[in-house]
Amino acid sequence: MLDCAIVGGGPAGLTAGLYATRGGLENVVMYEMGMPGGQITQSSEIENYPGSFREDPPLTGMELMESWPAQCMHFGLKHEMKEVSSITKEGDVFILKVGEERVEAKTVVVCTGSTPKRAGFDGEDTFFGKGVSTCATCDGFFYRNQEVGVLGGGDTALEEALYLTNICSKVYLIHRREQFRAAPPTVKRVMENDKIEIVTNASIDHAYGDQMGLKGVEISFSDGRENMKLDIPGLFVFVGSDVNNGILRQEDGSFLCETNEQGQIVVDLNMKTSVPGLFAAGDIRIDAARQVVCAASDGAIAGMQALHYVQEH
Ligand code: NAP
Repeated sequence: MLDCAIVGGGPAGLTAGLYATRGGLENVVMYEMGMPGGQITQSSEIENYPGSFREDPPLTGMELMESWPAQCMHFGLKHEMKEVSSITKEGDVFILKVGEERVEAKTVVVCTGSTPKRAGFDGEDTFFGKGVSTCATCDGFFYRNQEVGVLGGGDTALEEALYLTNICSKVYLIHRREQFRAAPPTVKRVMENDKIEIVTNASIDHAYGDQMGLKGVEISFSDGRENMKLDIPGLFVFVGSDVNNGILRQEDGSFLCETNEQGQIVVDLNMKTSVPGLFAAGDIRIDAARQVVCAASDGAIAGMQALHYVQEH
């Protein structure tokens, strides 16, 4: 039986593994289907992780996370590239369905994070992967010296719009309101960037194209302006994210532990869920600040708490 199973290998999962193993737990496995590092590896600019700052060019999420797996596995954390499909609890033991395997664990730390949302306009799904993308680092290069659109008004949208100005000839930043949600310094940089054209009070009604992919989007305005067409081969959608809580669903449809209306896991300051021995860390939990530094902090707390739980039971 595992002392601790960690599900998810982003900053929270890796740090939970580091603290649990360095604190003395011996049988700790982190399940992560891809390369450890998490969603942040898709971010093109990181300037707020203390101790890791580079101005020109800015540090990428991939560069930030590069050294984490080796350090976090140094004290015995094992990584298995397997998918966990469900977690249940029988008596004091957690049962993880890992592929066809049944794995038992004394404690579990859920660090499954979140997935980018779709905006919901007509044609978004049709052209997803064929012009519509949620990753500028992955797909920006396809639109070198071309005009692209970015949808959203949060930190992600504005930061990625800035990143895309390094590659593309012009970036239309399309936002449904007048005010941006992003941090003021980021808004200022966007406003000052000649390659960004801000299109506010605007919604995408429809994406058009052909079998080759996206050709453009039709935009309507909430302030009475006439609809307009933007002929762009690439559109990057950054409109928030949904939490990945599916593995906690039980056969009767309920969740293994308490969640809020958005499906985020309710935890206390020790990352304890409503189920003893089950912890949650990072973007999956209530009130997550959605910062790498906070996810790492959550992971450290959850790892230490898993250690205490095993020692006490
Ligand atoms: P977010 O802050 O929730 O922003 C989502 C944006 O998408 C909002 O501007 C929202 O418009 C817009 N939106 C939502 N649904 C839409 C739809 N269906 N159609 C069109 N627009 C839609 O998401 P985020 O930018 O991914 O950031 C998430 C969290 O991570 C935030 O707390 C953010 O501060 C944090 N974050 C921080 C950094 C950083 O510190 N460097 C970087 C990235 C993210 P409204 O404004 O009208 O609601």
